[in-house]
Amino acid sequence: MTLDVTDLRKTYPTGDEALNGVDLSVGGSETTAMIGPSGAGKSTFIRCVNRLTEPTGGTVEIDGTDLTALDDDGLREARRDIGMIFQEYNLVERLTVMENVLTGRLGYVSAWRAFRRSFPPEDIERAYEILETVGLDDMENKRVDELSGGQRQRVGIARAVVQQPKILLVDEPTSSLDPETSNTVMRLLTEIAAEREVPVLINIHEVDLAVEHADRIVGLHDGEVVFEGSADELGDDT
Ligand code: ADP
Ligand code: ADP
Repeated sequence: MTLDVTDLRKTYPTGDEALNGVDLSVGGSETTAMIGPSGAGKSTFIRCVNRLTEPTGGTVEIDGTDLTALDDDGLREARRDIGMIFQEYNLVERLTVMENVLTGRLGYVSAWRAFRRSFPPEDIERAYEILETVGLDDMENKRVDELSGGQRQRVGIARAVVQQPKILLVDEPTSSLDPETSNTVMRLLTEIAAEREVPVLINIHEVDLAVEHADRIVGLHDGEVVFEGSADELGDDT
């Protein structure tokens, strides 16, 4: 699947011009890292792609469907194909690892409603498979509030991937993690991209992690793309 963003713009009601016409395409099984200093617009970009924040201009096409033109129902439908992984994990602390992974498939509201019902066996099977991929297959009954930061982020990844998204959007996945765990999480994301043929777009401010793991680097500064190329090219540039 392909994500084509054209001339994306966001001016906040405060007057802050966070995005000044960003063009970006991602597709295939490629991992793209969006780097740039704090305030560059990385988080605004990812949030505008799935309209957690409404862009002020531009288009966001997923396989040719413009998300900016969809009504609420259309958007809800389209978001089923978009896996989101957040900096702060956004997990339900009092639920177990398995329950958190299963909520990814249902959306929070339905998951809470369905909590006391049994889940379809095929959902549970897929959840086990993904927990194995992220190395948490012996922890499915642990409550999330008993886990380390790295384990939580892997639950977040499993919860996004279990939805079988067509694209993964990842906002600063390593900012609360130590360097070794950060490497593990980045490696896991690139493996998922390659093995499941899902393009992964990662916001990250640590340039070294981006260069080591991503296939492609996009540099954002003051809401504009200032660099785009392979990690090797970035190395030559600096
Ligand atoms: P990054 O993720 O690269 O740190 P952000 O997208 O968070 O950048 O921020 C880009 C710019 O938009 C900054 O100038 C920031 O202050 C501004 N900004 C972000 N969120 C808001 C908001 N909710 N209201 C007003 N300005 C915002
Ligand atoms: P339902 O309650 O019918 O499951 P939801 O609106 O809760 O519908 O979720 C529909 C899909 O969109 C789910 O896959 C969910 O994970 C995803 N989703 C819901 N809200 C967001 C959001 N704010 N950002 C990204 N994806 C979302």
